[in-house]
Amino acid sequence: MINRRQWLYGMGILAGAAVRSGSVLPPGAGDPPETHPRPLDLSEFVPTSMLEVHESRVERAKFPVIDFHTHITTSRKSEGGVALASDRKFLGTTQELLTVMDRKNIRAMVNLTGGYDQGLGETIAKYDRAFVGRFYTFTEPCYERWKEPNYPQVQAQAVEQAYRQGARGLKILKTLGLYLRENITSGELVTVDDPRFDPMWDTCGQLNIPVAIHVSDPLAFFTPTDRFNERYEELNNHPDWSFYGRDFPSNAALLEARNRVFARHPKTQFVVLHVGNFAENLANVGENLDRFPNMSVDIAARIGELGRQPRTARRFFEKYQDRILFGTDATPHGDAFPQQVFNDQLYEIYYRFLETDDEYFDYAPAKIPPQGRWRIYGVNLPEPILRKVYFENAARQLRLTVS
Ligand SMILES: [Zn+2]
Repeated sequence: MINRRQWLYGMGILAGAAVRSGSVLPPGAGDPPETHPRPLDLSEFVPTSMLEVHESRVERAKFPVIDFHTHITTSRKSEGGVALASDRKFLGTTQELLTVMDRKNIRAMVNLTGGYDQGLGETIAKYDRAFVGRFYTFTEPCYERWKEPNYPQVQAQAVEQAYRQGARGLKILKTLGLYLRENITSGELVTVDDPRFDPMWDTCGQLNIPVAIHVSDPLAFFTPTDRFNERYEELNNHPDWSFYGRDFPSNAALLEARNRVFARHPKTQFVVLHVGNFAENLANVGENLDRFPNMSVDIAARIGELGRQPRTARRFFEKYQDRILFGTDATPHGDAFPQQVFNDQLYEIYYRFLETDDEYFDYAPAKIPPQGRWRIYGVNLPEPILRKVYFENAARQLRLTVS
């Protein structure tokens, strides 16, 4: 048995305090020897790995790629997490995008946040129609009309209109479930399975366009931002990403509501982004894939999770090889979020993860791992699975005629 004081010394807590105050040290002890633990600010801790292992550089993907999850445009106006304008901000010029795409063997990028109405039309003209086969744009719900009494019909018709404009799918941000409220930005949260969206889901099924849906976040975002939180630094840098407390639903409640939508709309295809929004628990994602034949997933911004459980992840890729899509969440000039910044380095990391058996490497182009302090291991997928994940599964969702 150890007493509390011995335990605190063991943890380095009391020793640190002693160095600062000098009051707990026995008389005549003087300055503590160099070997004493000293406090170190976490932000200053940038350890260099001493491990000598093989490092591959994968400059180009082995097969052509469709990046199913990118954000080339975003809404110009949003409030409380709810996008409220059709107007688009264009984050990257076609020239800078195409240059990287050609270097990295990216055949096409899916721009999920295309908005609606005029902004959508402008986006499709600027990217999809100007460079046919290189860009595909999705539409989004028009939440600014949420209060209109006939919103369910209005929204269903808006999706049909977007489809006629050239949209190739519908994107649902986590706005639904975590931000949209009865009075848009105030009142009760609207649930993911709110029946007022039923006509919208059905319309996607009738038009045979996929729904790319994001309904939750890493589990750590639903727990206190404290020293036990494995994503402490990330949440500390972005306190607004925490969904702990207030009236936020739990991760489980969000996923259950989402599952009720899948069950109610079996003819609609849902691609659940970020590994089904539960990359920490692939057994759970697998169970849901087994339950819902209309569900697929992408891997965007979650190779940090997949790559820290490489054996489980590899089995997941093998079992669900027809239902996993390549995606990155890439955002041009998104330097504040290194795990999704659109550049050569980001794609090389994804390719290295999928194509090699390299060990213990960074999952994002950043000095400090931005989504938790760990490194990842490659899953070394065989060629037939690579072809499906890189291209074929997305091509099927987008109904491309593959040459
Ligand atoms: Zn995204």
